[in-house]
Amino acid sequence: MTSLFDFSQLSLPSGHFIGGEYIQSSDAIDVLSPSTGAKIGAIPCADARMVDRAVQAAIAARQDSNWGGLRPRERLKALHTWADLIEAEAETLAKLEAVCSSRPLVTVRSGDIPVTAEKIRFFAELADKEGGDLVPVSDQQFGFISDEPYGVVGAITPWNFPISMAGWKLGPALAAGNAVVLKPSEMTPYSTLYMAELSVRAGLPAGLINVVLGDGPTTGAAITGHAQIDKVSFTGSTRAGAAIMENIARTGIKPMTLELGGKSPVIVFEDADLDLAANCIDRGIMSNAGQICVAGSRIIVAREVADDLAEKLTDQFARHQPAGTGAEVAGFSPLISEIQLGRVDSIVQAAVAKGAKLRCGGARFERSGSYYQPTLICDVDAMNPAVTEEIFGPVVTFQTFDTEDEAMELARHPTYGLSSGLFTRDLSRALRLTRRIEAGTVWVNRYGRSLDHILPTGGWKASGLGKDLGREAYRANRRSKAVLIDL
Ligand code: NAD
Repeated sequence: MTSLFDFSQLSLPSGHFIGGEYIQSSDAIDVLSPSTGAKIGAIPCADARMVDRAVQAAIAARQDSNWGGLRPRERLKALHTWADLIEAEAETLAKLEAVCSSRPLVTVRSGDIPVTAEKIRFFAELADKEGGDLVPVSDQQFGFISDEPYGVVGAITPWNFPISMAGWKLGPALAAGNAVVLKPSEMTPYSTLYMAELSVRAGLPAGLINVVLGDGPTTGAAITGHAQIDKVSFTGSTRAGAAIMENIARTGIKPMTLELGGKSPVIVFEDADLDLAANCIDRGIMSNAGQICVAGSRIIVAREVADDLAEKLTDQFARHQPAGTGAEVAGFSPLISEIQLGRVDSIVQAAVAKGAKLRCGGARFERSGSYYQPTLICDVDAMNPAVTEEIFGPVVTFQTFDTEDEAMELARHPTYGLSSGLFTRDLSRALRLTRRIEAGTVWVNRYGRSLDHILPTGGWKASGLGKDLGREAYRANRRSKAVLIDL
């Protein structure tokens, strides 16, 4: 398969992006291509002083531009202009993402980028429609709830959907009147840097978006522990989320939104449309090779249709052929790194050692790059590591049930509660069970997010705190103040 472009000819943004310009610093972390294993470039690692420089730039930009105090429609218009430029620059942005991530160029260009631009527009549109409330008090008084931006939001994003995740954080924070200091994953920094550069070219105040590069323990911790970061918004693993909570507790309390890991169940009843279920399960776990927080990774199926479903899934899984992220046609994604591939494989092998059976997959593809075969694991009990642990790879487990209660018991994860899927033609059952499922999202007869950005996303239990998307994400970027006036 030929590549659409020569990665070595790509001009990579270099340095932190602070106050509207690139700040050079010595390189500390290599950036690799998961498609080939080749080194693409290297980035610096911002220490506490560099993070402080970004925070001061954010504070100055807000003050100088009066961003939070503008007529809301002015913010709205400025964000629309930025969204337009993001769409116009889709080709460059997509290349900068595909060069080091697991996302295929063609998918990013036609999917992630226009959808991100739309999300920014969605949040921009809330700027002059959300906020504040009059409250009933005595006629001798006047009471209202004022609604104000925080100031500077510290955002930290993962590697699995770099542009989309940056959009989830930047859209609501900026629309709500804040400035942002954002740290993308050290593995996928380039598209986020370019998005920030585009914001300045679109006319947003320089310093409103600052991007600092680096790892979690150094740069991430300097952001979450900075006294003038007023709110933290994080997407990543539950392990890092816990470290962030700890750091915030130690360095000074501040509000946080945490979008964390999951181990989402997909329950298939005997009356389900099995072809539909197999299609949705395949997309729900094999898109981005399972590197999706909401991946439907635990299939819980009625015993009488289990064999049929397993056969359909095995057929579907066999169709996925790996392709470089720069290929002309989107293929099966690589895992982000060899380390991640080793982690996925070690859980699969541990599952087999504990008695599970491999229906398909269970090994890497024989080619260069970090590609792992679509894997279906049967005969697992509830304590098997493939059932309990977030694998973040193209791996599903298969468990069977006889009764609705048994299905609910299997679906319940002791710690995670991010998403879930239900397949049944019985609408009463579907509605009844949506109430019983412990998760922030339930999809019925579909699996995966739609383009309805009004629906919030976020986990229950150890899957998170607060929401991204929807009105809730906008509101999470503002804080309320109660005002009572004696007349
Ligand atoms: P990760 O937690 O390793 O890293 C995420 C980001 O946090 C990176 O930028 C990293 O540098 C930073 N980080 C790591 N440790 C930190 C610390 N102690 N302090 C501050 N920052 C720190 O996660 P990942 O491997 O990049 O992404 C995969 C994980 O993200 C999965 O668990 C997945 O479920 C989760 N995720 C969740 C959602 C959601 O909406 N719930 C969306 C996407 C990904």
